[in-house]
Amino acid sequence: MTLDITTLFAVTVVSMGLGGLLLLFGWLQSRETTALAWWGAGFLLFAPATALFGARGIVADVWSVQAANAVMLLGYALMWTGARVFEGRAPLPPLIGAGAMLWVAACQIDAFMQSVPARVALASLLVGAYTCAFIYELWRRRRDGLLSRWPVMAIAAVHVAIFPVRAPYLMTLPFPLTSPSIGAQSSSLLIFAPLLYAFALAFLLMALTKERAEQRQRYAAAIDPLTGIPNRRGFSERAERQLSRSQRDGRPLTLLLFDLDRFKTINDRFGHRTGDEVLTLFTQSAAQSLRPLDLLGRIGGEEFVALLPDVSPEAAAAVADRIRKNFEAAASDVSGLPVAATVSVGISSTAQAGHDFDGLYAIADAALYRAKQKGRNRIEEGPPVVTGPHLGVLPAGAAE
Ligand code: GH3
Ligand code: MG
Ligand code: MG
Repeated sequence: MTLDITTLFAVTVVSMGLGGLLLLFGWLQSRETTALAWWGAGFLLFAPATALFGARGIVADVWSVQAANAVMLLGYALMWTGARVFEGRAPLPPLIGAGAMLWVAACQIDAFMQSVPARVALASLLVGAYTCAFIYELWRRRRDGLLSRWPVMAIAAVHVAIFPVRAPYLMTLPFPLTSPSIGAQSSSLLIFAPLLYAFALAFLLMALTKERAEQRQRYAAAIDPLTGIPNRRGFSERAERQLSRSQRDGRPLTLLLFDLDRFKTINDRFGHRTGDEVLTLFTQSAAQSLRPLDLLGRIGGEEFVALLPDVSPEAAAAVADRIRKNFEAAASDVSGLPVAATVSVGISSTAQAGHDFDGLYAIADAALYRAKQKGRNRIEEGPPVVTGPHLGVLPAGAAE
């Protein structure tokens, strides 16, 4: 197989340009992902840089050596900035232009321009620095569960590793590129490398931003926007995991079910906005008394639930009562209004229901009902359980 070098250069230029347009198109589709704009612009700079390299011997060295490398370095700086922005950090403008300026400054020195090893060394150093910074930005947030960041870091690392090998090879090409072809030497891969790099990277960067968007959507679907804690869906996913863990380890678990008292009246008297404030206040009161490993969720309008692993029912009841009291104190006066909100609590534990969420919930719900019946602003613990062949585990009252 023989390869026409000029065609290869042309294909590489077009691929870089198309990669850039692909990334910019992705940005147009979701404007909030500004990283795509930086990456797209970076790719668009690689296209003219490659074209200028390929034109060596046809155009003056000031274009094919000075300008080509400066534009290329700017492209790498934009790739790195894209990674920074992707991870929520601000661009660093002085460093974006620093590489290109350093290169142009060095090119003013005759000895530097005459020395191929010096040029290769500086270009490799600067490309290496930007690309390592690019990898570093993605590495910092590696624990966020985005799988696509790994192949991106891997191909960037390969790119850094082969750059010092590739750059001197390119300089030995028969410039101007008039010879029709190069042989099927293994080194022809070195010309192919940026082409493969461009395709893989553009594709993977798109995949990375898409994966992040999906992750955020999944997160948003599981979180209640008013209080910032898991909603019913988010809570039950986590609760199921916690329940099976506790069951496997044979450890106790307690469920606290909260329902704010006469909340409809609070809304009617003080307005929906104050009602919302009360809901947030409750979340804060509860979070203050819970440990980081406890799960808190908002599973209905004014209904909350907490799952406490590894506590005795007595200790859980004490936590519930502390939450009740804290909330009563915090919500007596809300933004100057005498709201006097309170909460009732129903409690159930795995000692009564086993490690089954529906069973736990049913018992806590029955206990909550009793707390309401007995006058509200109190806690009640689960009633004895009846089991029957067709009933499964149910609270005593529910079997009637
Ligand atoms: P009880 O003591 O028996 O629990 O009485 P309650 O008034 O709290 O119970 P009910 O279930 O009748 O009323 C719940 C109210 O919660 C009705 C609904 O308008 C209100 N609500 C539900 N979601 C929200 C919300 O997001 N914000 C506000 N402000 N109110 C909400
Ligand atoms: Mg309710
Ligand atoms: Mg209520």
